[in-house]
Amino acid sequence: MPACAGMTTESSSLYMKINYTLRRSRKRRKTISLNISEANEIIVAAPYFTPVREINSFIQEKQDWIEKAIKKQARARLARRKKEFVTGERFPYLGESYLLEVFCEPQEKPGLLLWKRRFYLNSPEDIEAKKNLFVAWYKLKAAEHIGARVDFFSRKMNINPRGVRISSARQRWGSCSPENKLAFSFRLMMMPPDVIDYVIVHELMHIKEKSHSRRFWKLVAEAMPDYKMRQRNLRKRSEDSLF
Ligand SMILES: [Zn+2]
Repeated sequence: MPACAGMTTESSSLYMKINYTLRRSRKRRKTISLNISEANEIIVAAPYFTPVREINSFIQEKQDWIEKAIKKQARARLARRKKEFVTGERFPYLGESYLLEVFCEPQEKPGLLLWKRRFYLNSPEDIEAKKNLFVAWYKLKAAEHIGARVDFFSRKMNINPRGVRISSARQRWGSCSPENKLAFSFRLMMMPPDVIDYVIVHELMHIKEKSHSRRFWKLVAEAMPDYKMRQRNLRKRSEDSLF
C-alpha cells in the first residue's frame, strides 16, 4: 500500500515492541487498517484524527494476526530463494518435504533417487545439470501419477480428454485447450495428492464448460464436494513449488 497524497507518515512504537509505520489519511477513511509490507514493515492506516491510544490498542488486539502474517511472509521468502541443489536443501514431493544429499560418482549414471525419505542426486558440479535432473525426475513422476489420476477421474466422471501432457509452466497448474487436450505442470508433483486431484477434476470439467461460470463451479462441487479446501491449500502452497 503506497503512501499517497493526503497522507502523512510517522514512525511509532508500542511498549510491546511492535514497530509500525503510521499513515494518517486526510481522505474519507473511516476505519483503521493493517498491512505488512514486503520489507516486513507493519503499516497502519488510520483516519487523520484517530488518537494514538486508539491506534495502539487496535494493534494490540491484532497482535496474533501480525505475528502470523510476518511468519508467513518469512516462509514464503525462504521458499522463493533460489535453489542451489546442494546437500541439506529440502525439496517438496507429493506434499511432503525431503532432504537432499548430493554426491558425484562418475562411474554411475547421473540421476535423482528418492529413497527412504531422502533425495539422492548423483551429478557433476554443474547447477544447470542438477536442475535438469530434478526437472526430468519430476516430469517422469508427473507422467505416471497424473496420467493414472486423469484415467481414474475421466472414467469416474465419464469425461474423456483428447490428450494429456506434462508442461513446465510456472504459473499455470493445469490447462484445457479448445480441442480438449489437457496439460499439467510437473510442479504440481510438489503438491499433496488431494490438491493434484482437484486440479485434474478442474481441468476435466473444462471439457464440459470452458469458462469459470457458475455452472462450472457447480459441476466441480458435485464431482468434488470439498474442492474449496483443496483450492485454498493449492494457493497456500504455491510459493513452495517453484525452482
Ligand atoms: Zn479453470
